[in-house]
Amino acid sequence: MGFTVTVYCGSLRTVPQSYLDLAAEVGKEIAARGWSLAWGGGRTSMMGEVARAAREGGARTTGVIPRALADREIADFDADELLVVDTMRERKAVMEAHADAFLTLPGGIGTCEELFEVWTSRSLAMHGKPVVLLDVDGHYAGLIRWLDELGERGFVAPAARAALVVASDVSSALDACAV
Ligand code: AMP
Repeated sequence: MGFTVTVYCGSLRTVPQSYLDLAAEVGKEIAARGWSLAWGGGRTSMMGEVARAAREGGARTTGVIPRALADREIADFDADELLVVDTMRERKAVMEAHADAFLTLPGGIGTCEELFEVWTSRSLAMHGKPVVLLDVDGHYAGLIRWLDELGERGFVAPAARAALVVASDVSSALDACAV
């Protein structure tokens, strides 16, 4: 299957067009590097764009979608592999198992939850895979500022903070995935 990046990103139809374009750019770049994509298995929004572009570029795509969301997120049966699971927890576990690296794009609460789970487990040395956040347009600026503040107040260890790599463009985000 080759090097696989698991991508977390927004799933709502209401996100700005520029973020759909960003997701497509990420998919295209994953394919250009000869890598594979694991993602949430839906066709909607950024999720759909990253997979469509990755596939168009020749990348293998593995989608993981809970049965209950198959309609809402429009399960992508064009995926090379579409794994339909029973629960959200199972989805996260399967997406995690497929990853050589985790890349988080702009997203909402679901995306944040996925990011925090792989980041905290990395900081507890439960895995050693890169955890990368692609932050454009200051989407996560408030969150990062707050996390840094938590560090200053002694709630986030420097090593834990350092385990999250923040990149501001697609190419450096993917470079960080390969470290
Ligand atoms: P959002 O960032 O809220 O648009 O959500 C991005 C993706 O995360 C969507 O595909 C959601 O279905 C998914 N998601 C939301 N909550 C969870 C969860 N608890 N476990 C796994 N995936 C989730």
